[in-house]
Amino acid sequence: MALKLFNTLTRSIQEFAPLDPQKKKVGMYCCGPTVYDFAHIGNWRTFVFADLVRRTLEFSGYDVKHVMNITDVEDKIIKRVREQKTSLREFTGKFETAFLDDLKVLGCREPHVKPRATGHIAEIIALIEKLVVRGVAYQAADGSVYFSIGKYRGCGCHYGQLLKLNLDEMRAGERVASDEYEKESIADFALWKAYVPDDGEVTWDSPWGKGRPGWHIECSAMSIKALGETFDLHLGGEDLKFPHHEDEIAQSEGATGKPFVKHWLHGAHLLVEGKKMSKSLGNFFTLRDLQAKGFTGREVRYLLLTAHYRETFNFTLEGLHGAKTALSRIDECVGKLRDIAGNATAAPDSNLVQQFSAALADDLNVSAAWASVFEWVRETNKCIADNTLSIPAAASALAAWEKVDSVLGVGVKTEAEVPAEISALAEARMAAKKSKDFQRADAIREELKAKGWVIEDTPKGIKLKKI
Ligand code: AMP
Ligand code: ZN
Repeated sequence: MALKLFNTLTRSIQEFAPLDPQKKKVGMYCCGPTVYDFAHIGNWRTFVFADLVRRTLEFSGYDVKHVMNITDVEDKIIKRVREQKTSLREFTGKFETAFLDDLKVLGCREPHVKPRATGHIAEIIALIEKLVVRGVAYQAADGSVYFSIGKYRGCGCHYGQLLKLNLDEMRAGERVASDEYEKESIADFALWKAYVPDDGEVTWDSPWGKGRPGWHIECSAMSIKALGETFDLHLGGEDLKFPHHEDEIAQSEGATGKPFVKHWLHGAHLLVEGKKMSKSLGNFFTLRDLQAKGFTGREVRYLLLTAHYRETFNFTLEGLHGAKTALSRIDECVGKLRDIAGNATAAPDSNLVQQFSAALADDLNVSAAWASVFEWVRETNKCIADNTLSIPAAASALAAWEKVDSVLGVGVKTEAEVPAEISALAEARMAAKKSKDFQRADAIREELKAKGWVIEDTPKGIKLKKI
């Protein structure tokens, strides 16, 4: 089934078709983290969304090259390095490691290429040089090099491809040096920032003197290097449409004269308890904060994957409790299927797989995808309860779950390791049952429950589960 996705560039849902003439290889770039702090749950929504896109493409048979940069030099980073009197690498390294660890906890597939901006200064300089040669960039009196929106538009190029910008209200010659700016100040933006004492030791030599790159040019240089001058997919959170992505398009197309990206995908923002996340409101969560509250990565992933990527999502702790319950329904069903199937294998049951793929192909309709999973859980449980599920049917159902989980990535809860004391109690209960001392067996069952374990008698023996 053809995969359809909303393209921000055309503001419409389009059939996805890779640039590769063999229609097999797909190049995908997702703007990565700015490593100046731990990523928050809003950032994670965007990265889990990128993982869903990648997994869906792989599920559809494409060979994806997934690139995610690490922004390890920009204004906010420099400010913190200065305040904390540390070195750039020491500061960013800590948050980069934490980010990559959290990415794993959330079950995201690791991007194939993870370029750091500081590792691409030569490519960044070369790209700026091209823009200067083409006459769309200039060095200003402050020593910095800026992108000229006027010159770019003068060449017939289109600035404002991702969203409507009121360019006629723009004042000619206005410039903006900071990496982040508002729509009201559409202006020439910095490609290379001339050294100022506040930059401390964060500086590189360039044809325009000492300085450092602007944030936007970093992504153009790294994506072109990894994926070529024109590639298939570019992703990010919706806040990046302007100025970041608009500037990426201008820099890339301004330098190469070729279309930069065929398909732009943007994820909507996450709110917490209906409000924008902020430290002062006390609703600011990192993944680590949620883990400290006893939630797992797969529960957070599940919750983030329940909403459509183009809809604002309201994150609540109650929702996370709901995620726990929903996942335990799946775990229980899959656990029973494993017991019945044993070592048997079979081709995946096509019913679930077909419904699930149709939902995803429809612009990643995750609500319909989850609905197909829970309908399958309900029907499977019914067959198990009626004792009508054969061993091959159980194996086929399991194979179908594994196939859909290659996209969902929530897996199945691994059984917690059983402590020796609990196993000893379980054995004592077995012995009590054998000697028909049912009172003692029941007492041990209660004791186990008090210690947080339930014991189940299955045809294959006893099973211990953590409550
Ligand atoms: P940053 O580390 O600030 O560069 O952001 C990393 C990614 O998180 C970007 O794609 C942002 O668009 C995205 N992002 C930031 N805040 C939110 C939010 N509240 N909800 C969803 N995505 C967000
Ligand atoms: Zn970027």
